Amino acid sequence: MLNRKTALLVLSVAVLTTASAHAQYHIYWGDMHGHTSHSDGKGSLDDYFTHARDIAKLDFAVVSDHDFGNAAPWQMPKETWTLTQDKVDQYTADGKFVAIAGYEWTSQPKYWTPEEPIFTGPAKFYNHKNVYFPARVEYLFSGKDPAYKSPNLLAQAVQKVGGLIQNNHLDPGPEGHDQFDYDPAYASVIVNTEMWPDTMQYEGKTYTGNTEKTLREFLNKGGRTGFVGSTDTHEGKPAAKTAVLAGELTRPAIFEALRHRRNYAVFNAKIVLDFRINSHFMGEEIEIQGKPQISVNVQGTDKIEEIIVVRDGTVLHSLQPGTPNAKVDYLDEAFSGNSYYYVRVIQADKDEHGNRSHAWSSPIWVKNK
Ligand SMILES: [Zn+2]
Ligand SMILES: [Zn+2]
Repeated sequence: MLNRKTALLVLSVAVLTTASAHAQYHIYWGDMHGHTSHSDGKGSLDDYFTHARDIAKLDFAVVSDHDFGNAAPWQMPKETWTLTQDKVDQYTADGKFVAIAGYEWTSQPKYWTPEEPIFTGPAKFYNHKNVYFPARVEYLFSGKDPAYKSPNLLAQAVQKVGGLIQNNHLDPGPEGHDQFDYDPAYASVIVNTEMWPDTMQYEGKTYTGNTEKTLREFLNKGGRTGFVGSTDTHEGKPAAKTAVLAGELTRPAIFEALRHRRNYAVFNAKIVLDFRINSHFMGEEIEIQGKPQISVNVQGTDKIEEIIVVRDGTVLHSLQPGTPNAKVDYLDEAFSGNSYYYVRVIQADKDEHGNRSHAWSSPIWVKNK
């Protein structure tokens, strides 16, 4: 049975409206992760935000230099952190552009120096996490500081000041061994994870990172995370990789959307993706009566090659539309009472290395009432 309200939902290029919730969200495009010459990237903070605002035409951008590492024993000086926060306030203009101060919590044994032991027992492989704040904080919570050496300790500190955390560039190998090693209750602080295609072409070579596969394994075990995209630019060139559904273009509204995982990741093209279940937005955990009514609405920038709906780690439904705009309305008759769902879109276009454009919705978790 088709949910009439869902079927009548209107999706325009920039505005998502829902008749049932009386909520209206805009899609804002941004980048969650990038470096400047204050750590191991190129260019100044001015170069970074000017590129984001004027060249990439982003709505928002997070700058995230390393807290330490890469040039150990280098550590971000407090003045640099203060300058970062001054710059994001200078560049933020409500309704036009939002700049966000962040840093990359860089936790890998290869960056520890023997003189400054972080762990007394065996080294942990927590990988890197981006941390960002809606308002000023005195200093970042460095992975080199024993007080913030684990994701749990970090999340506890970040939660107190209203910040958010994302898991960066997942590693299915030993370097990412402990990347999800945190209390599931901190999913309200460590809300999102960077998504990348499982395989990528770069200058004629194929790289297998298995990010989506690794994320599915985390979700299959009951993990909770939304998906964001990032350039992780070290060239000072942030780009549109994350879409958030927010009420307005202000820093609090962007944080409110990210906190609720009302965001999705893209790789290359700015694909417009609306994914709902029983009129609920991506990122939500819902309880329903009956069967989940899945609604997907895609506006691509080229022909859509494939849309898949994933349920609990396997493909539930797929479609090869071959047109730039496509819809899926699917009632999951086989719903067993407790599942997660997400959508992946692949477009026909290819970048100069041969990679197709992708979009991945954040999941929706559905339970029977
Ligand atoms: Zn990193
Ligand atoms: Zn980085």
